[in-house]
Amino acid sequence: MANETAAGAGGETVSGDGLPSRSAATATATTLQSALARNRAFAAGRRHEGVAIGPVTTFVITCLDPRVDPAHILGLQLGEAIVLRNGGGRVTQQTIETVAFIAQLVENFSSGKGRFEVAIIHHTDCGSANLADDEFRHRFAERIGVTEAALLDLAVVEPVASVVVDVNRLRAARPLFPCVTVSGHVYDVATGLVETVLPADDGDAVAVSRSA
Ligand SMILES: [Zn+2]
Repeated sequence: MANETAAGAGGETVSGDGLPSRSAATATATTLQSALARNRAFAAGRRHEGVAIGPVTTFVITCLDPRVDPAHILGLQLGEAIVLRNGGGRVTQQTIETVAFIAQLVENFSSGKGRFEVAIIHHTDCGSANLADDEFRHRFAERIGVTEAALLDLAVVEPVASVVVDVNRLRAARPLFPCVTVSGHVYDVATGLVETVLPADDGDAVAVSRSA
């Protein structure tokens, strides 16, 4: 079982009544205050000036896990890539529609010549694996009013396998965005390394077997 949900992003603790403890609330406020102070330094450094929105060449889809921030693990610079993050870094209908939206923008501003690569990155020790636990999944399905089957489909238990599923899912929607190529990768939270499972390819996806 993955332990992503064992503690909050800021390391909050939860008291016996299920509410964040006073010290946790203070720690969270301190984290935000620190972030806002860093923003003042960022703005003063004027690094935001002159950053262009395009040309878009890279679109990263990955998990919202705070350990998997593309700005850090890929060293992405401001304005360098589009990043979409959700639980697990999964390709959902909403994900497909977002890629289609960007494709239309790119086509508009490049006279139809622009192309970009979507890199899907799943990761080890993903908290979405909790959705493979029957009791957890049952409670969450009731909580948000969806079927358990739909939630099970979102669990990243074996990231090498799930990223292949999502690459194929996005490639199957390619008629919506012919200017897009798709690749699949896995980030190992233990080693810090991103390994490519499926390179960008217009042809059929071929799974690369690899020990996790
Ligand atoms: Zn995750």
